[in-house]
Amino acid sequence: MDIQAVRVHLLKRREELRNRASRASADLRHESDPLSADFAEQVTQRENDDVLGAISQSAQAELRQLEAALRRLEEGRYTTCSACGEPIEEERLAAVPYTDRCRACAEGAPTSQHYSRHP
Ligand SMILES: [Zn+2]
Repeated sequence: MDIQAVRVHLLKRREELRNRASRASADLRHESDPLSADFAEQVTQRENDDVLGAISQSAQAELRQLEAALRRLEEGRYTTCSACGEPIEEERLAAVPYTDRCRACAEGAPTSQHYSRHP
């Protein structure tokens, strides 16, 4: 499997998502909404999520998965199942590039809370 190509692809995708976030964030700032009751709440949220708060939940979730995949890649664990330690099928990684589990674990573990994602 061409790890370098995967890495380039993931980095490119991350760049896209981040660009989208900063564009959306700029758009939000240009809105001239009057101060609403939940303005304070919005500010807190904005501070917490930085510019990422401006993009959709699904885009934020993708970005988090992407970052995790990149981290596994840097650590040489990208193709290793985080649940059983076996290699993840190449065609599975091609289809689901952010996955951290082999097909057997992904399909065989409907309740996947038995192990820690952050050991
Ligand atoms: Zn597995």
